[in-house]
Amino acid sequence: MLTTESLRKYALHEVGVDGLGVANIERFDGAPPDMDPRAIMPKARSVVVFLKRILRGTCRGVDEGTHWSSYHIYSYGGLSRMLGTAQSRLLRFTEQHGYDATPLAAMATTREFGPKAPPAAPGLPPREVAVHHRIAATLAGLGEIGWSKVFLTREFGPRQRLAMFLTDAELEPDPIETGVLCDRCMRCVAECPAGAIHPQRSVGIEVEGHRIEWNDLDLGKCKLTHFGLNKLSGPFFAKRFPGVRLAIAEQEVTWLEAWDLGWTMFPTMPAINALASSPVACCGARGCIIGCVKAMERDERVTNTFRTRPGFSDGKPWLLDEEPAYRAEDHGGFVWDPDEDEVDTEESQTRDDEGWY
Ligand code: SF4
Ligand code: SF4
Repeated sequence: MLTTESLRKYALHEVGVDGLGVANIERFDGAPPDMDPRAIMPKARSVVVFLKRILRGTCRGVDEGTHWSSYHIYSYGGLSRMLGTAQSRLLRFTEQHGYDATPLAAMATTREFGPKAPPAAPGLPPREVAVHHRIAATLAGLGEIGWSKVFLTREFGPRQRLAMFLTDAELEPDPIETGVLCDRCMRCVAECPAGAIHPQRSVGIEVEGHRIEWNDLDLGKCKLTHFGLNKLSGPFFAKRFPGVRLAIAEQEVTWLEAWDLGWTMFPTMPAINALASSPVACCGARGCIIGCVKAMERDERVTNTFRTRPGFSDGKPWLLDEEPAYRAEDHGGFVWDPDEDEVDTEESQTRDDEGWY
């Protein structure tokens, strides 16, 4: 017999996911038609949400300001692929019990861009339906959306990614718990290198007496930074375009404009392009994940703890110069010359490590 507990046991002990929760479909009664799971699976009775942790060590290089790719590879695009593998095992398990199960991708980008299109046929719901994963995870009792808009759990704080599926199995719902994990410390606001997390303005919904609320995030500024175009928080754009000034705080772009600009620029930055089989997480989520982890670990608000504490750098986080040391004149104004010496520093003149290259 398929129950919430048997599914959870299988997920945690056999599949290797780090959390699983269930919401009954009625919890989505207030959802707009293009976010209602029943528009995708009319006979859905339960929404199953599961998560895999972002391994803490993958955040280290970004936190130290020395290594950007591990976070992206192991905790962003790579972790989403691992969730896909887990998803297919959970669907198989559900089907083996005789129930239908429909997976939903976590990316908002699975919607079509541009103006909303009419339904596929008259009388059908809108054809671009995407269920809000973080709201679904809250309704499935896994945790709550923090002020940053990142999903928080008691075990890992903001360190996880989510996936979900719909099923016609009527599973026991998990209790919703809100208002216990995010204490509005605002460290995410202070450490977001884009200034994208609004300190006061919020958006949110009410479900079953719970207020689910997060900041009115500036998605354009966040996306530009996430895609590596913020010179304060990633080295790649500055290195390739030392003369271009793109102060993120002054940009007023939509998420889609930032998205298009990012994908246009990826091929010009080899280090990013090598990672760009999925949207590149160059920022490393320094405010909304790393800053938040630091705050929650310091205040003992997470149960997944480590022997090394504090596990992350302490003090004020680093920021790169908006004006990089290598300027247009060093760059030659045409193409990068591989024979040209790198920027000379006192340290590089006295080092004896040539053989490593
Ligand atoms: S850093 Fe503080 S305010 Fe921001 S989401 Fe985390 S707990 Fe909430
Ligand atoms: S991903 Fe980066 S830019 Fe976006 S909110 Fe988080 S810290 Fe800020």
